[in-house]
Formats: sequence, structure tokens, C-alpha cells
Amino acid sequence: MIQYKLLTPGPLTTTDTVKREMMVDHCTWDDDYKQITQWIRKKLLELAGVKEPEYTAVLMQGSGTFGVESVLTSTIGDGDHLLIAANGSYGLRMREIADHAGISCTVYETAYDEIPDAVVIQKMLEDNPQITHVAMVHSETTSGVLNDIEAVSRVVKAAGRIMIVDAMSSFGGMEIPVGEWGIDFIVSSANKCIQGVPGFSFIICRRDALEAAKGVARSLSLDLYDQWKCMEADGKWRYTSPTHVVLAFAQAIRELEAEGGIAARHARYAENNRILIEGLKQLGFRPYVGPEHQGPIITTFFYPEDKCCSFQEMYSYIKERGYAIYPGKVTDAETFRVGNIGEIYPEDMEKLCAILADYWKEKEN
Ligand SMILES: *Cc1c(COP(=O)(O)O)cnc(C)c1O
Repeated sequence: MIQYKLLTPGPLTTTDTVKREMMVDHCTWDDDYKQITQWIRKKLLELAGVKEPEYTAVLMQGSGTFGVESVLTSTIGDGDHLLIAANGSYGLRMREIADHAGISCTVYETAYDEIPDAVVIQKMLEDNPQITHVAMVHSETTSGVLNDIEAVSRVVKAAGRIMIVDAMSSFGGMEIPVGEWGIDFIVSSANKCIQGVPGFSFIICRRDALEAAKGVARSLSLDLYDQWKCMEADGKWRYTSPTHVVLAFAQAIRELEAEGGIAARHARYAENNRILIEGLKQLGFRPYVGPEHQGPIITTFFYPEDKCCSFQEMYSYIKERGYAIYPGKVTDAETFRVGNIGEIYPEDMEKLCAILADYWKEKEN
């Protein structure tokens, strides 16, 4: 088995101590296990900078998309209308979810290297009183662009609408003052910046908005309100939970705290990202997103114009030397992506740059 580190934004490289937690088989109805769930929920509220009873946290089985689908299909009712601000495929996935569930929605789409404008959203809300909910991605993993959820949340709240944020690839890796910005529902998952393994998503919810979702859900297993009711009672998940993943996640939170919390993790990620972009620029790779909108999580690069290059060949070369990069996902250009989150440090970024420099040298010879 070849061992390599993941420069992909989830699943990502985790510590051995996080992986080791999964060596225990835990019973789901056991009190100790339920206490772990409750502890995780409490810690998630702390990480979001919010408190009970105004906010509450719900864990949901499945990958991140299940969490987003749970929120959209559990909180948006038949008479409601959703506005989605999208600048990448994760934003557009929310439209797919809405279409599948028969949720009435409008999409405000911008180019993948630009960000949705809060002023435009404000105008749309003024002109369209039927809009009840607004949904947007924070860190668009498609390109690496970072959206201004603060500005958008503020206009959405001022207009009295519900704000839903997909912060899948940023929560835990960047400070998001959820309460201060007025976010009603924010979704992330176990295998991104908290550095756990895949298996569940979590949603931090404004309690009154969640209580209003009673009986709204269009799905049984993704019913956010029912899941919360059950979990809130005594920490029991409604249906079988990914026990090993939950234990690993609790350890991942302890390790996030030991690192110094979100501020310290953000500093490490930002430094990784800076070294990556500087190093690859020197080799002729230009970032797809301009510095004003580039986030600290993942970066999309164009191939150098004067060199021909196949992703598969470059990928294999790098993988044999210890790292896995990611294909591009933007639709209008030939690109590849490098994530810099997970158990990844500045020296990994330097190694990657050196591997790529060797790759070019070998190709030129
Ligand atoms: C990872 C991610 C998701 C969820 O993807 P899954 O494959 O379902 O885990 C959703 N939105 C964003 C922005 C993501 O980065």
C-alpha cells in the first residue's frame, strides 16, 4: 500500500491519534457514548461562538451534502422561496437539491472567480418579497474562492429572511462568528477543517428557526427537526450513528484545542497557502482566483501556458513522491487544485514545490 498525504480538501490527512480512536467498537445506546455526542455538540457551539439556548447543534449521518440537503429540505416549506447565491459547483448543488425536493428557488450566479455581491442580494430581497430563505457557500471548494458571508448574512437578516451557509470547507479553519453575523443554519462535516474522518455532517442552528421546521421535512431520514428532538433528549442519534467516526471526531476536536483553537489552525492553513502559491507561481503556475478573493483552504492553478502538461502524468509523479493533488473543477479553464488543510504543514508545501520543480526539470530534459 502506497502511503501518501492528501492535498485534497476532505477527506484529508488525519493524525494517527485520530485514526487510533477508531479501534474501539462502541455501543450506540450506552450512556458513555451518548455523552460523547453531547460533548461534541457543546464544543461545536463554542467553535461557532454561540450559546444555548439561542443556538443548538445537530449531527447528521452521511457526507456534507446530506447535511445541506437536510437543512434545505427540512426548513423550506411549500409556501417558501429560496434564493441561492452561487459561484461554483457546491452552490449549484444546492439548486439540484431544491429541484429534487420541489423547493421553489431562484439562483443568482456569478463567475467562479468572482463573489456574489451583498448589494445585489439586498436589491433582490427588496424586489422579491416571496423570497424567505437565502443560501450560500462560504469557501467555494470548486475554485478556492472565499465568499463574503458576513456582508450577505447582514443584509439577509436586516431584511428579515433566513440565512443558510454551507461552510463545509471553512468551519474550524477560520473564525466564523455565527451569532454576530446572524446566520440561522450553518453546515459543515467531520472530514474537513476539524480534521476528522468522513461519516457525518453537523449543523449549527438558531433554535427558533429550527423549532419552526417541525413537520416541514420532505424526507424521513434527513428530518433535521426530528433528529434534533431525539438528540436533544439524551444524546441518542435517531438511527445508527457512525460510532467510530464519532470517536475520531471527538479526538479531532481535542487536537484542534491543543493546537490553540481556530485562530492557530487558521494561521497554519494561511501559511501553508501562502507558501504554496508563492512556490507554484515561481514555477510558472498562475492561480485562477485573484488575491482579493483567494481563500486559505484550496487553490486552483492554471497550467503554464508555454508547457504542455497532463494532469494524470503530473498526479502520478507527485503521488509516487508522497502527495495526492486534485483535478480542476472549474468549467471554463484547464486547471488543477491543491488543498492545504488537514495534518499538513509548511514543510509539506515546500516539498510539493520541490517535487513539481523536479518534474519540470525532468520534462525539459
Ligand atoms: C466538501 C464540500 C461539500 C460536501 O461534499 P460531500 O462530498 O457531500 O462531503 C459541500 N460543500 C462544500 C463547499 C464542500 O467543500
